Amino acid sequence: MSQQTASPVEIQMNGPDIQQMLDTSVLTTRADKFIAWGRKNSLWPLPFGTACCGIEFMSVVGPRYDVARFGAEVVRFSPRQSDFLLVAGTITEKMGPILKLIYEQMLEPKWVLAMGACASSGGFYRAYHVMQGADKIIPVDVYVPGCPPTPEAVIDGIMKIQELIASGRRRPVQR
Ligand code: SF4
Repeated sequence: MSQQTASPVEIQMNGPDIQQMLDTSVLTTRADKFIAWGRKNSLWPLPFGTACCGIEFMSVVGPRYDVARFGAEVVRFSPRQSDFLLVAGTITEKMGPILKLIYEQMLEPKWVLAMGACASSGGFYRAYHVMQGADKIIPVDVYVPGCPPTPEAVIDGIMKIQELIASGRRRPVQR
């Protein structure tokens, strides 16, 4: 019994075809850019809410403003699972060491956003017991002004963090 072998299908492509295939089907990038793309689109925030800004943050993750559109909706209250610390509220002198401990428990790389006047600069609490901004005790990447800031402003701050991640710029690790 004779066996018939199928003839191989010949695909003939000319120069323009190959160029079109490359343009539509092939992506090139660098590994660090690809990792940054993944990181910026899957931030896991830890909201350190101590006052009214913490309440305002709830609307950011709610359905109206829906921060899930920016990949930052997986709120975690464990520093081991978070890479994005969102300081939302007044930081008193007693609260400062706790904020620092939580920051230190987060793994690198990590980013910090100061939400509102209190977290950015102490707000209107010019008092001996209030830290004049979270950056007095931990590094801060982005400051969002307002008392409280609008959800749109917070989302804009999150987008600034995403730009920072995508750019590959990093502040030095503090120990
Ligand atoms: S900035 Fe204003 S809204 Fe935010 S915690 Fe301070 S007092 Fe409250």
